[in-house]
Amino acid sequence: MPPVTQPGQDKYDIVFIGGGSGGVAGSRRAASYGAKVALIEGTDRLGGTCVNVGCVPKKIMWHAADIADKIRHAEGYQFKGPGIGQPQFNWETFKPQRDAYIRRLNGIYDSNMGKEGVEHHHGTASITSPTTVQVTRPDGSKYELNTDRICIATGGRPTIPKDEDIPGASLGIDSDGFFDLATQPKRVAVVGAGYIAAELAGVLHTLGSEVTMLIRGETVLRTFDPILGETLTNWMKHTGINFRHGSKVTKVEGTKGQSLTVHLASGETLEVDVLLWAIGRHANTEGLGLEALGVKLDKHGNVIADEYQETGVPGITSIGDVAGRALLTPVAIAAGRRLSNRLFGPAKFKDQKLSYEDIPTVVFSHPTIGTVGLTEPEARKKYGDANIKIYKSSFRALYFSMVDEAHKEPSVYKLICAGPEERVVGVHIIGTGSDEIMQGFAVAVKMGATKEDFDDTVAIHPTSGEELVTLR
Ligand code: FAD
Ligand code: NDP
Repeated sequence: MPPVTQPGQDKYDIVFIGGGSGGVAGSRRAASYGAKVALIEGTDRLGGTCVNVGCVPKKIMWHAADIADKIRHAEGYQFKGPGIGQPQFNWETFKPQRDAYIRRLNGIYDSNMGKEGVEHHHGTASITSPTTVQVTRPDGSKYELNTDRICIATGGRPTIPKDEDIPGASLGIDSDGFFDLATQPKRVAVVGAGYIAAELAGVLHTLGSEVTMLIRGETVLRTFDPILGETLTNWMKHTGINFRHGSKVTKVEGTKGQSLTVHLASGETLEVDVLLWAIGRHANTEGLGLEALGVKLDKHGNVIADEYQETGVPGITSIGDVAGRALLTPVAIAAGRRLSNRLFGPAKFKDQKLSYEDIPTVVFSHPTIGTVGLTEPEARKKYGDANIKIYKSSFRALYFSMVDEAHKEPSVYKLICAGPEERVVGVHIIGTGSDEIMQGFAVAVKMGATKEDFDDTVAIHPTSGEELVTLR
């Protein structure tokens, strides 16, 4: 259904600003209770970062890369024939196919909102008072929506250094630009060491690009448990990804999309086709009118929201990436749904809020990583060394028994237990299948499982996951 071009109600119960994971989930849930709901999205596509330039196209690229690896491994399983062992990926034809799937998802988001009765407005929103939101349509025309409540769900966008700070920085691309690439770059430099750097470097390298990681520290994923970053960094190096540690880009020269020279503080230069900045994201708050309303931002520019997603200005709430805590799609969705349950749902939900503790997460690296709970340093700090017990295992998954030595990916698992009852307060795993293994263990941690509960659980054999219930 095309978006509406004028208010369909004199007054709404709630207006959501932003049609991403949080806004769509929250608005649909509110409308399901009979609330009068409008959602304003600035672009012509619903779904936000996750659907358009995040989780979904990223995971599709990860699957493509995973298949490339399987084609390499197939030789070990005695598959013969043209192409076995030497994957040939056609980026040029794959990209439009991937884009077409995303467009179908945009349509599904649209029809799901329509079915639930959420009124979809297309335009840039700004809050003119705690009870009015202005919509500026793409043609420049404006109108206002009157509402009892407003939820800010405007997400964030990639951070790129300013050209004043690093001359030529804008010749590089960010993760949005990665999804625009029509052809596969041959040589790529990736700056950053977080989720996006690890994931996109892995995809590019596994599909055949020459990748150099420009990182500040010794490992990627420094905020994760140390075994994860160490194991992944070592494996990335083993597979042929180049690393420049302690590196700082000082200047970039050349022509975007063709050939770039990247200058490093060490005096070294790198010749690449693409420079990818993956150094974090920041909240979309400009032009919303937050300052005038007294909505407070933290020092990173995120909207400050309390445990009930309230901003402190009556009637104005904030969910998802713009609120700056755990920038993950299921977090934005859970916060949006709980907010609407609390505001419009049955009495049993009147105090509902999202707990930001023990949020499981996966890095779609090669191999994948799964994690929930405290890292070892966090657990030691919280409980003290004497109250922490660590269980660890390093192994090769059975799958790799038939694969040549160079391709045998490592698996490393760690359980962190606290107190005399050995409550499991952290599970950190890297190795094939970690992405799918993690969800169930997250339930166990959330429920307060102990090491004894893990040991009491009969293993599923032969799997990698069984290691977690047989650790000694
Ligand atoms: P968004 O999805 O960003 O939606 C915000 C929406 O608000 C946008 O559509 C924007 O256009 C709109 N908007 C902004 N300002 C205005 C305005 N003034 N008026 C109207 N509309 C406005 N998370 C995971 O859980 N798993 C993953 O595998 C994963 N992979 C990722 C990979 C990448 C490359 C990236 C960048 C992110 C990934 N994430 C992943 C994170 C996930 O995408 C975000 O946490 C999630 O999209 C946040 O949802 P949101 O609703 O808060 O914001
Ligand atoms: P992250 O915050 O995860 O990582 C960015 C990293 O870049 C930092 O940890 C830092 O590592 C490094 N860095 C920061 N500033 C600079 C700088 N100026 N120069 C060089 N390096 C720098 O950000 P991402 O952009 O990777 O991802 C944003 C968020 O999106 C993630 O935090 C995550 O919540 C979400 N996301 C989730 C995914 C998933 O669920 N699988 C996938 C992708 C994104 P160091 O200190 O070691 O240098």
